[in-house]
Amino acid sequence: MKVTILGSGTSTGVPMVGCNCRGCSSDDPRDKRTRASLLVQHQGRNILIDASTDLRFQALREGIGRIDAVLFTHSHADHVNGIDDLRGFHFLHKEIIPCFGSRTTLDTLLTGFRYIFHEHDGSGYTPLLQPQEVDAPFELFGLTVIPVPLQHGRTTALGFRIGDFAYLTDCSGIDPSSMALLEGLELLVVDGLRWNPHPYHFNIEEAIAATAPLKPARTVLTHLTHDVLFAEGAGLPPGYEFACDGMTFHIHNACSAAGGNYA
Ligand SMILES: [Zn+2]
Ligand SMILES: [Zn+2]
Ligand SMILES: [Zn+2]
Repeated sequence: MKVTILGSGTSTGVPMVGCNCRGCSSDDPRDKRTRASLLVQHQGRNILIDASTDLRFQALREGIGRIDAVLFTHSHADHVNGIDDLRGFHFLHKEIIPCFGSRTTLDTLLTGFRYIFHEHDGSGYTPLLQPQEVDAPFELFGLTVIPVPLQHGRTTALGFRIGDFAYLTDCSGIDPSSMALLEGLELLVVDGLRWNPHPYHFNIEEAIAATAPLKPARTVLTHLTHDVLFAEGAGLPPGYEFACDGMTFHIHNACSAAGGNYA
């Protein structure tokens, strides 16, 4: 199973419009960050996690030829506003793309993007996307996908575990029941945002403190703001690093028994 970080940036992207700070004006290409999303590839199937505002650019950059399913973490704009760009994949392969998410997330998508789902709208167009509510582990193309409920400020988001890989973007807390789903990870990609605290996101220090008990083999901090320089990752504790756009990983164990812990 291959994992590609399509976007490693916070909601504004980096550079942020109008800003000339040291992060936004950095010459290091690893400090150019599109909005957070990720691609999982396994046995010829492409699973997208979130349709970021930058989806079109990300898909062109990475040469993504098809999307077979989308997992939505939550409905904040930076994670869903690229949904319109999924139409191109549907036009080519003519298949309805299943979209998985919590009831709350799907309700927001169906309200804001009804024209893509064409649910009972009488338009005569066929649906391009099919909403599928998830609240427990489910099978997808031979993989077991485990939704991991996360605190995201005063809201909730879903992380996803697939085999020994987990993606926890946009979180400010992980309850014990969710921690139990995250043992034995080969790779953890987790929200780290910035150096200073934020009510809706782990900052770097909090992300490290929250995930250290899990002892993942490798932990990558993502959803980064312009306050963070990629090169500063050299000062992180062993096993921790910053994400950058286009980073890829090969996950050796795509099958996981951790779903047995699901409460
Ligand atoms: Zn976000
Ligand atoms: Zn800036
Ligand atoms: Zn969010």
